Amino acid sequence: MPSWFSRSVVDGKTTMLTEPFVHAYVRANIWHLRGRDADLLVDTGMGICPLAPQIETPQGKPLLVVATHIHLDHVGSLHEFPLRAGPRMSAARFETMDEAATYAYMFHDLEGAVSKLPASGWKSADYRIPPAPLTRTLDEGDVVDLGDRQFRVLHLPGHSPDSIALFDEADGLFFSGDAIYDAMLIDDLPDSDRAAYISTMRRLLDLPIRIGHGGHGPSFDGKRMREIATAYLGRTAGG
Ligand SMILES: [Zn+2]
Repeated sequence: MPSWFSRSVVDGKTTMLTEPFVHAYVRANIWHLRGRDADLLVDTGMGICPLAPQIETPQGKPLLVVATHIHLDHVGSLHEFPLRAGPRMSAARFETMDEAATYAYMFHDLEGAVSKLPASGWKSADYRIPPAPLTRTLDEGDVVDLGDRQFRVLHLPGHSPDSIALFDEADGLFFSGDAIYDAMLIDDLPDSDRAAYISTMRRLLDLPIRIGHGGHGPSFDGKRMREIATAYLGRTAGG
């Protein structure tokens, strides 16, 4: 059976996986970055099909998994991995994967939830996200270390209160989650906060990134990120 996931090689160290058969609204990017002492996996998709068998790491090399926020399309397969880091702010909710936090209920009656059944008899109404207690919590200023590169954790609320991102200050690589990406930004969920999102966008205007890999959409450079942030500020903050 062909894989549920599609896979794109971004560069020698970076692979992006996504779920082409899930509704575009919850089709998120999953990033696998190879480090010297550990690999990094940023977000884990919907959890409709097992993700862990798709992620190849050398024997004995740790795979550090970071959830950028607790929304369904980023944490579905988190429970499959032993090293689970995520936002300190929402840490308690990873223990239950409370649907009020993940919005898993929104998938239950989503029209066209999948364009291909993952298994015969599969129904979106049965969709559940298993609990995945965090083994490490991350907040502003913390560092995720792969040995040959270090990512600074940025807390970038707005889309969700718990949104975090990873920034390698040495070479400008940025994993932004849903704080910013090159597609329609979502700021009208029950836990979205437009004032916080405006502050996040202002902060991003000054972040010296080389390349950004977001939670959705194509990757972007610093110029494109500033365009996205400026456009958001223009339509939301009035200028
Ligand atoms: Zn989200």
